[in-house]
Amino acid sequence: MSEDMECMCQQCGVSIYIPADSISLEDPANTEVKILSSLHVCEQCGGQLVLVGKAGDEPYYRFE
Ligand SMILES: [Zn+2]
Repeated sequence: MSEDMECMCQQCGVSIYIPADSISLEDPANTEVKILSSLHVCEQCGGQLVLVGKAGDEPYYRFE
């Protein structure tokens, strides 16, 4: 069973939920800003997505 992760568009700020096992990060070594690879882009504007955390979890500034 897969959890959904919350991702946010850097351009328009919309939240998108993506199953955790289908997420891949642009730069896994960057632990501060988790940018998703270009496999996933904003459905609204095509902008780059940033991983915020687990769906329904606390905002990213408390995410570890
Ligand atoms: Zn967008």
